[in-house]
Amino acid sequence: MGGTPTAEPLPPALELEGATVDYRAARALAGVRLAIRSGERVAIIGPSGAGKSTLLRLANTSLFPTAGVARVLGEDPATLGAGRLRALRARVGTIWQQLHLVAQASVLENVRMGRVGSSTLAALALGGASGAERARVAAVLARVGLEHKLDERLERLSGGEQQRVAVARVLHQSPDLLLADEPLASVDPARAAEVLRLLVSAAEGRTLVVSTHLLEPVLPFFPRVVGLRAGEVLFDLPRERVGAADLARLYQPLGATPSGERIATTPLPALRGSSGPPLRVAASTLPGDHLLPRVLPALRAAHPDVCVHLSVSDTGAALDALLGGDAEVALVGARDLHPDLVFEDVLEDEIVLLAAPALGGLGLGAAPLPASDLARLPRVDRERGSATRRIVEAQLAEMGSPLDPAAQVAEAGSPAALLGAIAAGLGVGFASRLSAAADLAAGRVREVPVERLRIPRRVYAAVRRDRPLPETARALLDLVRAEAARARGPA
Ligand code: ADP
Ligand code: MG
Repeated sequence: MGGTPTAEPLPPALELEGATVDYRAARALAGVRLAIRSGERVAIIGPSGAGKSTLLRLANTSLFPTAGVARVLGEDPATLGAGRLRALRARVGTIWQQLHLVAQASVLENVRMGRVGSSTLAALALGGASGAERARVAAVLARVGLEHKLDERLERLSGGEQQRVAVARVLHQSPDLLLADEPLASVDPARAAEVLRLLVSAAEGRTLVVSTHLLEPVLPFFPRVVGLRAGEVLFDLPRERVGAADLARLYQPLGATPSGERIATTPLPALRGSSGPPLRVAASTLPGDHLLPRVLPALRAAHPDVCVHLSVSDTGAALDALLGGDAEVALVGARDLHPDLVFEDVLEDEIVLLAAPALGGLGLGAAPLPASDLARLPRVDRERGSATRRIVEAQLAEMGSPLDPAAQVAEAGSPAALLGAIAAGLGVGFASRLSAAADLAAGRVREVPVERLRIPRRVYAAVRRDRPLPETARALLDLVRAEAARARGPA
């Protein structure tokens, strides 16, 4: 008991070595490597489904990895017998998102359960508290400001008070490793700092790991941030180094992330007739209006006999045309996982927030706007089917700053209509920099920087996996690649 006077180096609080967790159908963690030193404070951030709760279950030994090793406080729980596993578990305290308190029991009883395990059965098996234990629980409750609620039934407390009871329960347990799963999930943003301050003070220098989908509130309290997505660690950084690009990678919807594939365009033996059929290209507005027209002259020069039929609509319609045999190539703003389609990344643009130069009444200065202020600015949105709109809404929602539907002042069915409305001062709006290039250059609109926000907007070429590509389509793809490389500028 107690600390030994010689300073033995403490083992890491948590060490994951290639830890994989498979649930029946889903891979929740995929070969995660992570080491958390004793006494560290680490925030695990990521969108829902990233594997955050699963990682905490490994840390509190309620789950063992399917493959790899999860060592907790220097021990591998998967190899321990029942007695030593129970002893290890007593040294890890968890505050679950759903709190797992017993509504009908008193605050005192709920806090005491921290010592004996958290099941209802344990609560029923609990005898009355001794005077000494009552005093200990009262002291712990005083630390969370609830000493006067000792004998109150839990269900009579507010949500915030119940959360403090859950903190008091782990304080009473006095664990070496303290875990909190989404402690901010049901807390209103104004109280987030208060909850985190309470957790940090409860941890008192012991190891504290929280999971959250919100970065901003945890930054002041957690020096180290681990970004988790689809069961993989995307970054593991000191908080000062977490940048907008890291957050974009974490929170972009899957359909807007790089595909990493390449469409094969090696020449096949040509089967050319005297005058070939038209080359049908289906595109969404960004590539259709801003990329494809620029490559048509070069295509025409190389293939004087080909006539391009370019149809410009939205991403969904363009992919339908490709799948329905009405187009040989599509250039679109989002990819999907259709087994018959192959997508190649051709261009990376960026979606930015735009305002009229004179939109001073909104308090838009030169300093970057906090993302949380963005939600309520009067806003012009693209129509629902637009990939730009879907990407913006999904990323901001995952980042915990969802746009307020009530702040929408108009919906514009094309990039040109959107830019016109923004330039006229109707509100702010999101558009890709490429689509706004002319209006930006002419000073009709300006960019409004937003803190820690970067929204990549990719363009993909798509073809059918199962159909040979006509020679003209291969030539078009090569020209699109070259034009995209020019648009990116010299490396
Ligand atoms: P997070 O806490 O980041 O939202 P989870 O760890 O809860 O993520 O889940 C990661 C993945 O594992 C998700 O795809 C989720 O649907 C799946 N998953 C989680 N728990 C279970 C379970 N008990 N059975 C099956 N699949 C699960
Ligand atoms: Mg979770």
